[in-house]
Amino acid sequence: MQSTMQDVPLTVTRILAYGARVHSSSRVTTWTGEAEPQRRTFAETGERSHRLAHALRALGVREGDPVGTLMWNTGDHMEAYLGIPAMGAVLHTLNLRLPAEQLAWIVRHAADRVVLVNGSLLPLLAPLLPHLDCVEHVVVAGPGDTSLLAGRRPEVQVHAYEELLAAQPGDPYPWPELDERAAAALCYTSGTTGEPKGVVYSHRSVYLHAMDVCNPDAFGLTAAETCLPVVPMFHVNAWGLPYAAFMAGTSLLMPDRFLQPAPLADMIAAERPTVTAGVPTIWQGLLAELDARPRDVSSLRTVVSGGSACPPALMKAFEERHGLTVVQAWGMTETSPLGSVAYPPHGLEADEAWPYRITQGRLRPAVDARLVGPDGRVLPWDGKSAGELEVRGPWIAGAYHGGADGEPQRPADKFSEDGWLRTGDVGTITPDGYLTLTDRAKDVIKSGGEWISSVELENHLMAHPEVAEAAVVGVPDEKWGERPLAAVVLRDGAVVDYAGLRAFLSERIARWQLPERWTAVEAVPKTSVGKFDKKVLRRQYADGELV
Ligand code: ADP
Repeated sequence: MQSTMQDVPLTVTRILAYGARVHSSSRVTTWTGEAEPQRRTFAETGERSHRLAHALRALGVREGDPVGTLMWNTGDHMEAYLGIPAMGAVLHTLNLRLPAEQLAWIVRHAADRVVLVNGSLLPLLAPLLPHLDCVEHVVVAGPGDTSLLAGRRPEVQVHAYEELLAAQPGDPYPWPELDERAAAALCYTSGTTGEPKGVVYSHRSVYLHAMDVCNPDAFGLTAAETCLPVVPMFHVNAWGLPYAAFMAGTSLLMPDRFLQPAPLADMIAAERPTVTAGVPTIWQGLLAELDARPRDVSSLRTVVSGGSACPPALMKAFEERHGLTVVQAWGMTETSPLGSVAYPPHGLEADEAWPYRITQGRLRPAVDARLVGPDGRVLPWDGKSAGELEVRGPWIAGAYHGGADGEPQRPADKFSEDGWLRTGDVGTITPDGYLTLTDRAKDVIKSGGEWISSVELENHLMAHPEVAEAAVVGVPDEKWGERPLAAVVLRDGAVVDYAGLRAFLSERIARWQLPERWTAVEAVPKTSVGKFDKKVLRRQYADGELV
């Protein structure tokens, strides 16, 4: 029997048209650091996306062409999110925190001919420009010193975003009929464990992912909500929140470059978002800020934490001291990123719910998952058997952008023979689909044939009242192969007492897992998206820098 349903492509164009029309009065508010934020309605945002498409077309952008964005979370960036894919081009978000050579490599690898940049980021772009021989046009959004670009590559044309938009016809851009499987957006992994790799989202994957983000068991976005994406729009499309919000009519509060704890607390108090999302280090900073200078953050019903393991002590502290609920989620660039969200099963008392809340979350319906043991066998979902997590689904990458021959590449360490994504994460899954990660495969500490979970040790250490942050890495050991090294950041005024910390741990974990090696550091090194950078810690140890 044949299905009798219509086959309408799922595209960003539909998200744009629907949001701008049906939720015309919802808002995109951008924090400016001045008395008044910038406010635009969804209708205005939609109209400006049409103008942007006209402008890019005039600059020579055609279907399938990547357009780079080197931008913070702003209303202008939202227009690029909508207009670029809708015109059939590919939104290529650039991670502005990457080292300069890596950023230049990524622009060249993607072959961006046009780059949109925030004026405040011109000091970053200017020295890079001579290395970006593919770039022909730079479009500067917001105030900035364009003279910084002078003489860098005279053949590059520099345009002002507002002038470019104002010069376009007011009539709608004739959006092309797109194949839902066509490329919509391109994002490179942040390279925590290797060279960056390009993940190309399709219109279909973006659309389906956005629908799931709106789900009550995910981010629960509705037209009554305001969402503050602290996670950058250059990091996995800000976890899909901009698209989901435009679909649901959820107003957006964009933090621009004001990501420090104090302005974040100020904008929450002033603009009263209901849901926010970011990595644990952001929440760690916000907690300290709120402890020191309390603000009214009561508008927030949910603080989503993802990107790396959220210490349970942090979740508890937010709840007890500020009445805020932190919900953990797991995902990666390759998974768009929504994979699992840690809402407990319905109807549990707080203490019964806790063991579920500290997991990486319950798998989303469209995400198939399996655990694979070291011998390649698929392990049961019994909450005990630990293996590498592999996933499959309509918003999970099946390959990476362009190898040497220009074709998508499927490296064997990243994709199984039958096409599942090998996440590189190690953990367990309960019979009812809750995922717990003990480590990244590359961070697992292999001591005398047993595995020690660095994440478990870190979570216990960060529950100690004198420890602000802790990262544990495996270091070579003659007898055991590897042993844990604990790097701790102490709270202000605390005195180093490793014996005390060991005693604290010994009440919580098996004796053989206790670290013998300790070091106090001023800060744990972080990656471009704020995760613990364990590569750097291991190198510092090897170079004798940690004593
Ligand atoms: P990169 O791979 O460069 O770090 P990603 O943002 O794609 O960039 O990182 C995805 C990885 O982040 C996951 O594979 C996992 O190791 C880690 N991660 C994401 N969310 C969580 C979480 N809630 N708990 C533990 N680890 C997480």
